[in-house]
Amino acid sequence: MRQYPFESDDFDADMKALGFTGWGFVDTDQIVFRPEVRHMCEVNRCGQYGKTWACPPGVGTYEECRAKCLAFPRALVFSGCYELEDCFDAEGMAEGHRKFEDSSRELHKKLTGEYLFLSNEGCRNCPKCTYPDAPCRFPETLSPSVEGYGIMVFELAKSAGLVYHKSSQSVSYFGMCCFR
Ligand code: SF4
Repeated sequence: MRQYPFESDDFDADMKALGFTGWGFVDTDQIVFRPEVRHMCEVNRCGQYGKTWACPPGVGTYEECRAKCLAFPRALVFSGCYELEDCFDAEGMAEGHRKFEDSSRELHKKLTGEYLFLSNEGCRNCPKCTYPDAPCRFPETLSPSVEGYGIMVFELAKSAGLVYHKSSQSVSYFGMCCFR
């Protein structure tokens, strides 16, 4: 049985109003996990590795993350696609990422019951994260990174029927919410 807001008749309209451009559902046993995705986090191209509780190694081991997802049977996958001036438009990418974070935060607020909410690249909720010296200040609003859980986002998007890469003049970000 789907939980609110997924069971709502207005769900599609709500997702659109939140600013998402794509969404779909997958069974969690269809999700492709790979340890290599975690290895890419360790290379730290995004600069978030070891910075907050939302990214490795703070999210737990690869095996723990996989088990946390598979404890739920279904997942909503959602994305935001944002136009860029060209493929070097770093400002446009950052702006798109901010918009995606805002949309994800608003979706997260609507959820009830038991779920696991994953989003994109780290956590900027606090001026200075407590990691690794003390527990997260706001664990209920924490949304760990999809990649940090070892998930192949390209495969995830495909399973949910979403476009992974629209064009060189756009950037897309993805999140996921596992639920019962
Ligand atoms: S909510 Fe605050 S303490 Fe928790 S991971 Fe994010 S920045 Fe760190």
